[in-house]
Order: sequence, then C-alpha cells, then structure tokens
Amino acid sequence: MAVNTKAKKVAKTATKKVAAKPAAKKTASSARAAKGPKYVYTWGAGKADGDGTMKPLLGGKGANLAEMTRIGLPVPPGFTVTTEVCTYYYANKRTYPATLQAQMEAGVANMEKIMGTKFGATSGMPLLVAVRSGARDSMPGMMDTILNLGLNDQTVVALENTTNNPRFAWDCYRRFIQMYGDVVLGVQKREGEDHEPFETVIHAFKHERYHEDIEDSKLTADDQKELVKRFKDLVKERTGKVFPNDPWDQLRGAAGAVFGSWMNDRAIVYRRKYNIPSEWGTAVNVQAMVFGNTGENSGSGVAFTRNPANGTNEFYGEFLVNAQGEDVVAGVRTPEPVIKLKDVMPKSYAELLQVRKTLEKHFKDVQDIEFTIQEGKLFMLQTRNGKRTAAAALKFSIDMVKEKLIDWQTAVLRNPADQLEQLLAPIFDLAEVKKAKVIATGLPAGPGAATGRIYFNADRAVVAAEKGEKVLLVRVETSPEDLRGMIAAEGILTARGGVSSHAALVARQMGKVCVCGAAAVAIDYDKKTATIAGQTFGEGDYLSIDGTSGTVYAGQIKTAPSEIIAGLLDGDKAAQATEKFKSYAQLMKWCQQATRMSVRTNADTPEQTRNAIAFGAVGIGLTRTEHMFFEGDRIDAMREMILAETVEARKAALAKLLPFQRSDFLGIFKELKGYPATIRFLDPPLHEFLPHTKEQQMDLARKLGIAVEKIMARVHELHEFNPMLGFRGCRLGIRYPEITEMQARAVFEAAVEAKKAGVKANPEIMIPLVGFKKELDLQVEIVHATAKAVQSETKTKFSYAVGTMIEVPRGALTADEIAKTAEFFSFGTNDLTQTTLGMSRDDSGSFLPPYTEAEIVKKNPFATIDQTGVGQLMEIAIAKGRSTRPDIKLGICGEHGGDPDSVKFCHKAGLAYVSCSPYRVPVARLAAAQAAIEEARKAAASKAAPAKGKKK
Ligand code: ADP
Ligand code: MG
Ligand code: MG
Repeated sequence: MAVNTKAKKVAKTATKKVAAKPAAKKTASSARAAKGPKYVYTWGAGKADGDGTMKPLLGGKGANLAEMTRIGLPVPPGFTVTTEVCTYYYANKRTYPATLQAQMEAGVANMEKIMGTKFGATSGMPLLVAVRSGARDSMPGMMDTILNLGLNDQTVVALENTTNNPRFAWDCYRRFIQMYGDVVLGVQKREGEDHEPFETVIHAFKHERYHEDIEDSKLTADDQKELVKRFKDLVKERTGKVFPNDPWDQLRGAAGAVFGSWMNDRAIVYRRKYNIPSEWGTAVNVQAMVFGNTGENSGSGVAFTRNPANGTNEFYGEFLVNAQGEDVVAGVRTPEPVIKLKDVMPKSYAELLQVRKTLEKHFKDVQDIEFTIQEGKLFMLQTRNGKRTAAAALKFSIDMVKEKLIDWQTAVLRNPADQLEQLLAPIFDLAEVKKAKVIATGLPAGPGAATGRIYFNADRAVVAAEKGEKVLLVRVETSPEDLRGMIAAEGILTARGGVSSHAALVARQMGKVCVCGAAAVAIDYDKKTATIAGQTFGEGDYLSIDGTSGTVYAGQIKTAPSEIIAGLLDGDKAAQATEKFKSYAQLMKWCQQATRMSVRTNADTPEQTRNAIAFGAVGIGLTRTEHMFFEGDRIDAMREMILAETVEARKAALAKLLPFQRSDFLGIFKELKGYPATIRFLDPPLHEFLPHTKEQQMDLARKLGIAVEKIMARVHELHEFNPMLGFRGCRLGIRYPEITEMQARAVFEAAVEAKKAGVKANPEIMIPLVGFKKELDLQVEIVHATAKAVQSETKTKFSYAVGTMIEVPRGALTADEIAKTAEFFSFGTNDLTQTTLGMSRDDSGSFLPPYTEAEIVKKNPFATIDQTGVGQLMEIAIAKGRSTRPDIKLGICGEHGGDPDSVKFCHKAGLAYVSCSPYRVPVARLAAAQAAIEEARKAAASKAAPAKGKKK
C-alpha cells in the first residue's frame, strides 16, 4: 500500500506537469522506465512494442492488439501491463513494482499524443480509457472490463462541451460509475437481494419519472445526470467511501481489480476445468476509448470470420446501433445479425469485410472479433482464434487446406483431439424426430442432440446429474455463475441471447449441445416451470433439444449414432456420402500419413474388435481374458475351478472353461485378420468371481452339489484386506500353474483353428503384475511347454510372443533383467499409477478433488499420465529394457492410451503403439499424428535456427 500512496503523489505531479510541458515529461518518464524491467508495452498509430507471438507476456488480447496494429488495422492506441506484474503482485502481498507507475505514465502519454486528447483534461477532449483484462488464453466471462475510465465531475463537462452531446457524455459517466462500482468497489448484490443494486436504482428512477420500464437509450442527459448522483450516493452508502475522482486513482484501482479477478472463484473454476495453471497470470490492457454510443451512426458488435457452430464460410455475428461494450452480449436489447450492417452503414460494412479477409489471411485461422463504429469509422478492439465446435474445426481445417491458407499438417493440428469425440456423439433418431412435437426454435449454438430432465438452476442441475440423471439446464440466459450446471448438463437451453451470448460461447467451447434465444420458452423461476407453446413443464420433466438445427422438442427422443459411426461401423452408404463423413475420412487419412506410433485397442469380444478396426486400430493391445468368464454359464465353471480342493478337480473345471476361451480367441483372431493380439492372462483376485449374497451362494451350492458352508468358507478364505495388492496377477498362475496352462492351450488351439480357416493368428501372451524376473520365467516356461505340446499334437506350427505388463515399480526398475525373458513390454499404467502413487483409483474419489483444487496434481493421474512420476518410471523401464533387448516391442494398455496428453507423452517416450477402448481409437490416432507433426516441426525449427544465426 505504501507503494501506492507514493505512486499517487508522483502521478499527481506528473499529470500537472503533463498539462504544462508534455514533451519534457515524456522524456523524463521514458528515461525512468528504461532503467528497470519493461512492464509496459505500447501500441498505436501503426507501431507496437509487442506482437502476436508474445501471448505469455502480454496475454492473448494485448498480443493481438499489438499484432493488428502492426498489420495496419484501425486499433485505438493503448498499452499492456504484462503478466509479470500479475505474478509480482501475488508474490509481493498485492503490491506493484516501483517502476510501474512511471512506465504507465509513458504509456498514457503515448495515447495522448496519438489521440490528441489529455487524460484528466478539464477543458478540451479528455482521454478516456478502457481497462481490459487479458489472460494468455481468453477466459470468457471471467474478467471484467471497465469502460470510460477517466471521467469525473470535471472531465464529464469537458466531454459534454467538446462533443456537444450531453446525453452521450452523461451516459458514459453513468456507465463508468456502474461498472467501476461493481467490479472495483464491489457494490454487488447482497444476500437476499434479487437484483444488482445499480439496476435497482435505475429501475426505481424510471418508475418515479416515467412510471414504466423505458429502455436505457431513452434516458435523457438530465436523467443520466440524476442517476450519476444516485449511483455515487449508493457507492458511499455501500462502501463508506467517496467515488474516486482522480483519474489516476481510478486507473490504479481498475488495474488492481483485474489482477484481483485472476483469483476470483469463477476464474478458478474455469482454470480447473481447462487445466490452466494459476502461475500464468493475467495482463491488463489500457486502451483509448472509442465510442459506439454517440448516436445512430455508431454501434458495436462481435463476429466470427466463419460460422463457429457448423463451420460454414460465412460472416457470422451481431451488432447493435448506438451501443457500447457488452450491450451486444448482455441480452438487454436484441442485436441484429452482422450482415444487416450492409444496409445501415454500408461503408463500415465494406471495411469490415476487408478486415475479415485481412485477418484470416494474416492469422491463417478463423477469428473471433470485437469492433466498434464511431460516427461511421470502424475500430478493431479484439481478435483471437475463434472457439469452435468439433464439427466446425473439422470443416475449417479441410476448407482452409483447399483454399491453400494452411497445409495438411496444420489441418491435423487444428482439430483438438479431446474434442473429436463430439463428432461421434449421437444425433436424434430420424424416425423418432418425425414423430416428436416441435414446441420452440432458437439459435443452433452447439451442435448435437440432447435429451434430459430439465432444471432451472445450476445447483439443482448439478445435484440431479450427480444422481445419474441426464439433465438439461434451462435458463432465461446463463452467466458465469451457471458454469457448474452447464458442465453437468447434457445440453443447455436459453430463452434469451444471441450467438455471442454466454451460453453459446461456453457451449461451443465445451462441446455442449445448446439452443439459445428460444423466445417461446417462458420461464418462471419462482414456480420452477417453463411454459412453451401452451404446455407447462416442471423440473424433472423431459425436453429434447437439437443444437444443430436449434429445435426444441417436448419429451424424450431416442438418439441415433452420428454419421461417422453409422458410416464406419454399419457401412451406411447414405452416411458415408455426407460431408461430415468425408471430412472425417480425409482427416484420418492425413493422420495415417503423419503418424509414427500405431493405435491398438483394448477389446474382449469379436464385436469390439471389429468396431475398433473400423476406427483404424491395427491390433489388440489388451484382451482381458477374465471378462470372458462372466458370460452365461461360464461363471459356474469358473466358480467350480476356484472351489476345487485338488489339482485334479481344478483341472477338470478348467477343462470346461477351455472350449469357451478357445472359441472366444478364435473369434477375435478372425476379426483381426493377422493383426497382433496381446492377450493378458488371468489377473483379478479370485473372490471377484464368487457369489457374495447368501441366496447366490445357496444357488451355486445346489448347482455344484456341494454344501453351502463350503462355499461360504472359501469366500471367507479368499477375502482380502487389500485386494489391489493381494492374490492377483501372475501370483495366481504361480500358485495354480494349471490356470496358465489352460489359457495358453486355449490361445494356441485357437491359433491352429484360425490357421485352418485361412487366418494367420498373431498372439502375444502377456503375463500381468510381474515384479521379479523369476515370476515371468516360471510362467513363460509353462507357455512354451504348452506351445510345444499343441504344435506336436496338431502337427501345426504357429508363431507367438510372450511378454509382460510393466505395472509395478519393481518391474520398471528391474526392466533390464525382465527384458531378458520378455519379448515385449506393455505399460499397465492403471496399476502403475496406483502402485507408484500409492493411491487406489477406486477409492480416490474422496481425496482427489481437493488434490486437484489445491493443484497438488494438475490433472487426474488416472486419466492423464503423471509424467514426472509414473512417466519417469516408464522412461527408466524403456531404457533398461532396451539395454538387454534392443528391439523390445513397447506399448501401453492402460486407460491412459486414449488420453491425448498421455498419447503425446507415449510418442515422445518412443513407444511403438498405444492401446485404448474402441471408441477412443480416433482420438488416439489424431493425438498420435499430432505428436509426430509437432515433433517434426520442432526438429525443423531447431535445424533452421542455427542457420539463421549464421547469416547474421
Ligand atoms: P472480454 O474479454 O470480456 O471480451 P473486453 O476487454 O474485450 O472484455 O471488453 C468487452 C467489450 O468492451 C468489448 O467487446 C468492447 O465492446 C468494449 N471495449 C473494450 N475496449 C474498448 C475501447 N477501447 N473502446 C470502446 N469499447 C471498448
Ligand atoms: Mg466480458
Ligand atoms: Mg472481448
């Protein structure tokens, strides 16, 4: 705080000096600024200190404002206070670096020079500024922008006099006090209040003077003046302090609020969802104001250079005449589609179309822009890569290759791997939709089909979703407070708001199905009902929404697979002819071209195998043989085996299981058509197979003709305190070698039968949970002996491999020894994570959330590989394994194999393949291709860099 007071004094004298001798002051402060680190980066009049590559330092908004300035677009001048100041601020008890004030003064001076105005001027045109947050990645709705800063009781008169537009001047001042009061001074809704306090004041005033709720734009200059007075009284009453009159006090306060908002709840929730580290910090942008609220010749708007919902190459957005800032997205007045600008301001529209072209050509990607028109003159206020649905991302990438804006490798990178599943999401069943009743339509803001029980409030939606209900969140409009509910819901329906409303924005980003602005939906929050087309729906009732067309249906509608699924898995010809299917096929072809690592699947049945191959899998990375024991009567034979008291009895039971396993393997081999199949031998604790209720036990006793007490005793015997670390994995085969023998026989006999049927089987037998070389040796011995026996019995040769899963730390650490026996390693990262972290995955629900909250773990380690810990063990195992068996085959079969970040890690670590569940195969293929492309680009860049250096 000491810094602040001192800075304030400096500021005051500096401002006074400015008025007298601007040139002298500028030199003084630039000299001062030059001494310390550079905290302030200016832009304006075609020049900028920063550029678009400096997002970590300047934030996304600041970096692109600099970039737009550099390429000659009309951007009001300003400066960015860097993210380093945010870091400093939190590291130093919320104070600022000593040299910051002087650097900001230089920044303000630069703006004054370009604009020909003065900050705090009481005669002539005062410089007003916008104070805008700007994190590295945009965080919609999280941070608050303050407009018209610099206005006070004196400067507002100067503004009124110079513009000769009192309504405008007092509108600006009124807006400023409201925004500043809310964001910086914290004059907000208190518990028990239904409305924002400033809005309550406006409401009361309108009724007092006009006896009705007139539009804000109808308020006269005198009305605004009166509101300014009442707003200030409100601030005084709520905060006990007078509204700051000094522009520099205002500016410092606003900057502090931006930095402060980095740690507000909404920002934290958002960062957690998108894994943005809190260390990144936010920048603050201070920019000269331009005014969209001077009258009918002005306005402001937002647009995308192409349609971000479905990818169509059309200018897409909306604007409002005589409006400022967030008016467009606030949903108070309904904005016009941006193409209508053509009629009202043709010159500005033509200019805007030119900007659209320039931006796409320069950034080579679809841009999301904000602009303001002041008296017919266009100003660009923001550009960033537009958030998009997976469908739009796919279409953009394919189209831009055709347009020669990007190459195919870039196109592959443009499709976020973790969004790809959206394309596979179901659509409504066509026949069912025909029968369903359309009750409303809105804007198609997030494609896909969603059906669920409706809730009108985020908290109740979350609770219902936690209970396992499919939920639709239905709101008049959404705000950042609804984020949790939106995350929990299948889809979002709003009654108000356009394509740039909060709901649309968030839905696009999260890939949620969303219909917004469905005006026919009349919501009564108090009664918890929505009346639509004369029908009333209460909470818990079903609605269905189609976010691709914007349609709202009554009741529940069955969904059907997406065109991609229908085309790939069912061979549906009509689906294969759709643009979506063809684009997907093109993308996967490119992936194929780029990738080094291949993708296998985790599959236990012929059907799963067939699906995975249709998705592009080239083998099975994990077949869990025990899954085969649960089907039909098989479980009885399995239980008999477990209950057996002698080797002979056990062998007899195993003999019953053998034909089942053999035929399962044969089915899988046939689907694989020569692709390899990694088959894991029995792994889970035996008690998982036994009946646990008295009734089930009696039933089994009857079936097997033994006493129920015997079963109970065995269940008791097999009970473990810690089954995860208990009698499981290869420990089973060590104690009961006949199990291993039966399984090996089933595999080999199936291989022989496959061969007879003209299919080459390629089995890779995998022994689980190996920590000691000797464990593996003992099991491998049985496998080899069985192979020999089957080959001589059937007089048929077949090839196979035996390897192990690396899933306990000791296995990883002694991988050099183990690799002497193992022909391949497959990383079982589920267990490896459990045993490395000493955390049980199934029990982690109770303690992992606070761990993520406190950022002890950045991501759930059971979903994304913990690279520093578990990843390190993998790297050790890879290096050691290769030291004794240089050509050892390496793969991964844990759940992580379908997680894009983990796939990229596996690529870097040098694995030959990843394996994941069938529906994740496309995601893994995309991630694997992206890893290869990124690696190639890095290599090319580091090759190119030294060459450049030499030239200089
Ligand atoms: P957000 O990150 O929430 O989009 P912005 O900083 O982009 O916040 O500001 C929101 C809106 O405020 C902009 O879309 C624009 O309409 C308005 N605005 C921002 N800066 C200026 C400016 N210099 N002049 C006029 N309006 C501005
Ligand atoms: Mg905003
Ligand atoms: Mg913005």
